[in-house]
Amino acid sequence: MKKNSNSNRPGKNDLILVAGAGGFIGGALARSLHEQGYTRIRAVDKKPLPHWYQRVPGVESLCLDLSHEDNCVQAVEGATEVYNLAADMGGMGFIERFRIQCLRSILINTNLIEAAWQAGVSRYFFASSACAYNVKLQEDPNCRALKEEDAYPAFAERGYGWEKLMSEMFCQEYWAERGMKTAIARFHNVYGPWGTWDGGREKAPAAICRKVLEAKHTGKKEIEIWGDGTQTRSFMYIDDCLHGIDKIMHTEALIATPINLGTSEMIAINDLVSLAEEIGGIKLKRSYDLGAPRGVAGRNSDNTFIRKMLGWEPSIPIRKGLKATYQWIEEQFRARQAGGHTVRDIY
Ligand code: NAD
Repeated sequence: MKKNSNSNRPGKNDLILVAGAGGFIGGALARSLHEQGYTRIRAVDKKPLPHWYQRVPGVESLCLDLSHEDNCVQAVEGATEVYNLAADMGGMGFIERFRIQCLRSILINTNLIEAAWQAGVSRYFFASSACAYNVKLQEDPNCRALKEEDAYPAFAERGYGWEKLMSEMFCQEYWAERGMKTAIARFHNVYGPWGTWDGGREKAPAAICRKVLEAKHTGKKEIEIWGDGTQTRSFMYIDDCLHGIDKIMHTEALIATPINLGTSEMIAINDLVSLAEEIGGIKLKRSYDLGAPRGVAGRNSDNTFIRKMLGWEPSIPIRKGLKATYQWIEEQFRARQAGGHTVRDIY
């Protein structure tokens, strides 16, 4: 008998593991699962608990380095579902500079998926990335949007992208050879409140909001942009991301099938800056650092496949999402200026 999509979901008292829960997307996922009424959520991250972006009351929160096999065995014990959002990652500045650290994230997925299989986990989610796509298809700011099949022939982003591609393959083979249900979403630039907004790992939307706030604060009406500002991307708001993760994880027809999870609203970095200026109510003099990391020239998500499979696609407009993100970063910025602590607990 064909299952309806609800019966693919775990029971409210089944144990769900969120790996990387001290970070942006993992933290938001743990909170969302808690709000949906799941009573047994285990949140794991290698960061010490006070450094987690969000900690949710009632959620078991553990500090474990999941690149080690024994910690993975401990983390998955008793779990019905596993979400792997743990990775050593950041924006382009981080990805281009620390390729070894990015590659070493393969240890996390390799050990976690094996432990999950050994423990009899029902479903396993892997957070892949648009960086897994062939970079040769992304050399022009107006290049066509990426379809799922564009990952092969493989020419992924060095380091980070290859790790994602290999980990995707693990997920596919754990289904093909061992019968564990896996889900693989290729995220395209996720942003929103509770994300990284300074320190070197932040991505373009948060970095630009922060720079606009800094310019307002210092009165120096200038902004430095990485690259020439013509590079294009699409950006997905965190709420769309969470919605997509849930749908992809629980759709039988998508088992072990990489799928884009991003918006198809492409925007140039220059236009993103204009939007942030508009939200901040300021106009800044732009300078361009042509030597700074800028990533591929253009990237967008082709959403034909996700629309066909789910009858849905991420659609929160950048204008709306950026406003909410800017407001949240402004709160953090003010708190920091006032000497406060900006990693917020919600106990
Ligand atoms: P994040 O850096 O905020 O969160 C990742 C978390 O993983 C961090 O808290 C980190 O401490 C943790 N981690 C790293 N190594 C670990 C280890 N060995 N053991 C346990 N925890 C470890 O990043 P994010 O934006 O929340 O991204 C989540 C996932 O989504 C990652 O796999 C990332 O590659 C993927 N992704 C994110 C984006 C995006 O735009 N944010 C885009 C594409 C893919």
